[in-house]
Amino acid sequence: MSGDKGSEFLGRLDSDDPVLHAGGYLFEMERRGYLQAGAFVPEVVLEHPEAIAQLHHEFGRAGADIMLAFTYYSHREKLRLIGKEDALEPMNRQAVQIARKVAADHPGMFVAGNICNTNIYKPGSAEAEAEVRAIFTEQLAWAVEEGIDLIVCETIAFLGEAKIAVEVAKEFNKPIVLGFAIHRSGKLRDFDGSVADACKIIRDAGCDVIGVNCHRGPATMYPLVEEIVQAVEPSRVCAFPVAYRTTPDQPTFGSIRDPDQPVPNDVPGGLPFPVALDPFVVTRYEMADFARRCKALGVGYVGGCCGSAPHHIRAMAEALGRTTKASVYSPDMSKHYALGTDKSLKSHNQAYAGSLARNESGHL
Ligand SMILES: [Zn+2]
Repeated sequence: MSGDKGSEFLGRLDSDDPVLHAGGYLFEMERRGYLQAGAFVPEVVLEHPEAIAQLHHEFGRAGADIMLAFTYYSHREKLRLIGKEDALEPMNRQAVQIARKVAADHPGMFVAGNICNTNIYKPGSAEAEAEVRAIFTEQLAWAVEEGIDLIVCETIAFLGEAKIAVEVAKEFNKPIVLGFAIHRSGKLRDFDGSVADACKIIRDAGCDVIGVNCHRGPATMYPLVEEIVQAVEPSRVCAFPVAYRTTPDQPTFGSIRDPDQPVPNDVPGGLPFPVALDPFVVTRYEMADFARRCKALGVGYVGGCCGSAPHHIRAMAEALGRTTKASVYSPDMSKHYALGTDKSLKSHNQAYAGSLARNESGHL
């Protein structure tokens, strides 16, 4: 494996201290007004690099180990869709440059290049396979030239597309992490076996870390993780869920329904996904619990995907036993004016506090 950082990354996997991944840039940039939902192309990388750098910093302060270059959906198919193929190479190069520059302020972080679902892969189509291979090859060539430590392949829903991603990535001699995105069916789109079986196949194909990411929140991703660690060495399993409350009945963020949606006609498609998911965001405590349970299984690589924000990542880091740069501002309610316990607080506010969360009958 070339590069000290690549070896260091692999060494971390074999320690008891899981690698912490921070992602969800696409959703966060959309929320912050720098990216358009729909095509979801990260033009922000060229138009407002400072916005990306800021979020990188926030994840670094929150204790993330992975500085993920924001090249998700910066591939030829997406740029073609918006008629901006000219921007393809600059977007890819600049994203890695931004990640590297910010990572320099956060010693110990690993800079990851990022490829993802192409949306053109079609099982059995040699033409599609060749296009997918070309997309992955050009993106990774640019990323490696700009200086990455590892490769993260995200949200792959086809076993066939994952095989191509790993084949291409292996040529660049960097550690490879691959996350399968598991839709509502609970299976990959081109494979009748289990997700765990698919993970074993990809691990055996030379992928260093394999598992699941995106689509599912902690509650519906965890059962898959429990199965995957039976098929693949736990230290080489990755799991980074979306930060949304998914349930067995609505196991993915795309299947969440909002019975209380007050303005249904204003919501694109009438579905919470992708831009009306706000009421379903999980708390930092749920993400922390996921990290803790994954660590107990021996999972080597955990984190957050769409919907996760720095407060989720900080809570996960702390659940893994770390103190982060942002931990100085982690909650301490002892000095809250009404809910706190500090002796200097006014007792009439503390007495009144009992009514804050109770209804008129005095019940919580
Ligand atoms: Zn995601």
